Amino acid sequence: MANQSEELFQKAQNLIPGGVNSPVRAFKAVGGKPLFIKQGQGSKIVDIDDRAYIDYCMGWGALLLGHCHPFVQDTLKKTIVKGTLFGTPTQGEVELAEAITQAFPSIEKVRLVSTGTEAVMSAIRLARAYTGRDKILKFDGCYHGHYDPLLVKSGSGVLTLSLPNSPGITKDTAKDTIIIPYNDINSLEIAKAKFGKEVAAVIVEPVMGNAGVIPPEENFLQILKEFCNITGSLLIFDEIITGFRLSYGGAQEYFNIKADLTTLGKICGGGLPLAAFGGRKEIMDLLAPEGPVYQAGTFSGNPVSVQAGLATLKVLKNSQVYKELEEKGEALEKGIKESASKYEIPVCLNRIGSMFTIFFTKEKVIDLKSASTSNTKIFSRFFNLMLENGIYLSPSQFEGQFISLSHSTKEIEETLEGVEKSFKTIARELELGPYK
Ligand code: PLP
Repeated sequence: MANQSEELFQKAQNLIPGGVNSPVRAFKAVGGKPLFIKQGQGSKIVDIDDRAYIDYCMGWGALLLGHCHPFVQDTLKKTIVKGTLFGTPTQGEVELAEAITQAFPSIEKVRLVSTGTEAVMSAIRLARAYTGRDKILKFDGCYHGHYDPLLVKSGSGVLTLSLPNSPGITKDTAKDTIIIPYNDINSLEIAKAKFGKEVAAVIVEPVMGNAGVIPPEENFLQILKEFCNITGSLLIFDEIITGFRLSYGGAQEYFNIKADLTTLGKICGGGLPLAAFGGRKEIMDLLAPEGPVYQAGTFSGNPVSVQAGLATLKVLKNSQVYKELEEKGEALEKGIKESASKYEIPVCLNRIGSMFTIFFTKEKVIDLKSASTSNTKIFSRFFNLMLENGIYLSPSQFEGQFISLSHSTKEIEETLEGVEKSFKTIARELELGPYK
């Protein structure tokens, strides 16, 4: 008998393209049908069939405090009774701008927007205006939202013209984007020689989160910074995942490096739609109404999102938070690796702080190419076995798993028991390890 999620998905498919409002939610990468979630509390979510799961998707990384954090909830309750939108400046916007600029020393001025895509789009426009150049350098597998010039794929060879990655994007739009592999210094050198002086901005996820989690190799980010210094292009750190997650000051504090422009989202909106972009004053002051670069939004700096963001940052501004997240991450990593080696499952576990991905490959994953060696059939089986064990992972091999402050030691142990059981089943099915 179909459960309620299945019935609702059936109906949704007649009303919403693919039944979902964002593609990866449809579970296409893992087979099966998406769960419809009706509520969350702490680290758990509950579906409309009343089954509870420990959640590692956590609103795609937005919920670092977990679902329904009491302080954020209280703040929201107090806020919405006063009105939800005025289309005027509010005090909260100034407070959030202050909190962001204090957390990120490279951000002297910041503008609030509603989504990460919008933050990236605006940062790129600004970089082009500031430098008077057109080209953007990005890295294969980094996702920066669905902005046309960044929704492109590499051409047939390194540094050949990029191609649209979706119908509806023109070849002309794609042609100004240069794509090279992440962590690949040689390609960067070639790009410098060929296009250096035409590049307006290098945009990078300082830790890749959208081909699965892939940390930068030693000095990679520093070399990008040097590339920008030499060529006169701007370094944009897309910290929409890493901002306030790796540390309070994001990847820039974690790796001790400053970007020219930074995009933020997810965590700084406390689970509501809010994103931001910011950087040096001289660049940011090109924005209207101060300068000529147009950028605007009805919902920008929405008073409710702003208060959720402020409340979240208040909780995070505590030195213990990131130590605690690291400990939770370490415990999960250790347990998963132990189970993988016990059952001889080929696993490359990439983790940095509270974000991780289990790749089912023997290769070290350092870029999109090596990530693509992961056996997605095993991931899909693992995902579904974990679901049966009450654990909800981000539903694709090429996504991050996100630990929150609300994941208790007990829940981490339960997760590891689920991993052990799932790996055991996979080993039996594939005749690995003890089942050879
Ligand atoms: N940049 C990064 C690194 C992201 O992970 C995402 C979304 O996951 C975006 C940009 C786009 O953000 P949004 O989905 O809010 O438009």
